[in-house]
Amino acid sequence: MLNFKRNFSLKNFNTFGVNVQANYFINVKKIEEIQKIYYKYPYIPKLPLGNGSNVLFLRNYYNGIVMKIGFKGIIVMKEYDSQVIVKAFSGENWEKFVIWTIKKGFSGLENLSFIPGTVGASPIQNIGAYGSEVKDTLLEVQVYDTNNGQIRIFTKEECKLEYRHSFFKQTHVKNNFLILSVSFLLKKKITN
Ligand SMILES: Cc1cc2nc3c(=O)[nH]c(=O)nc-3n(C[C@H](O)[C@H](O)[C@H](O)COP(=O)(O)OP(=O)(O)OC[C@H]3O[C@@H](n4cnc5c(N)ncnc54)[C@H](O)[C@@H]3O)c2cc1C
Repeated sequence: MLNFKRNFSLKNFNTFGVNVQANYFINVKKIEEIQKIYYKYPYIPKLPLGNGSNVLFLRNYYNGIVMKIGFKGIIVMKEYDSQVIVKAFSGENWEKFVIWTIKKGFSGLENLSFIPGTVGASPIQNIGAYGSEVKDTLLEVQVYDTNNGQIRIFTKEECKLEYRHSFFKQTHVKNNFLILSVSFLLKKKITN
């Protein structure tokens, strides 16, 4: 069952604290929920929301479905001698994820700590700080294609990561892909 909240205030879900009401609000934790929403309500506008640290609501009512992205989990997919592939689900808090990598001794994301937001939003504007950007370590992105309901992988090249920009940020594709998880290729700390 889809657990929608009606006329829900997003005041605590955007950094500017704008008291916009969402007609429908749902915290999505499973990919099946996303599939159901797009299948059952194809004509209702939908807005994926991470931590709301890069959105500015200009109206006081969003007449559609706001989907707070709540997919959680961090998985070590592959380990090599000096590198590791880590997959993080899109609802993970970015800063907590970076701290997790540091504690594990995996390097590559340290300069991006303290950037507010979620893992899922990180490739959208290719977040960056102190000369580093997500582009340096991103391997691939798993998305839900809202046009055909398929789950597919975007390679790093397909993500077209540029300075605070990506394929996903282009206006004409903005609502077409929902980011489910992001995989990173990180370095393992050398221990003697
Ligand atoms: C105080 C402050 C400091 C910041 N510092 C930096 C910085 O140093 N470097 C930097 O690069 N940025 C910085 N930012 C910007 C911000 O941290 C990033 O843009 C971050 O990636 C936003 O993440 P979010 O989860 O809050 O996204 P949101 O604001 O929730 O969403 C941003 C956009 O992405 C879409 N979206 C979110 N999640 C998904 C998903 N899973 N699938 C598809 N679409 C999605 C939303 O619909 C929206 O259009 C800063 C912001 C603040 C407020």
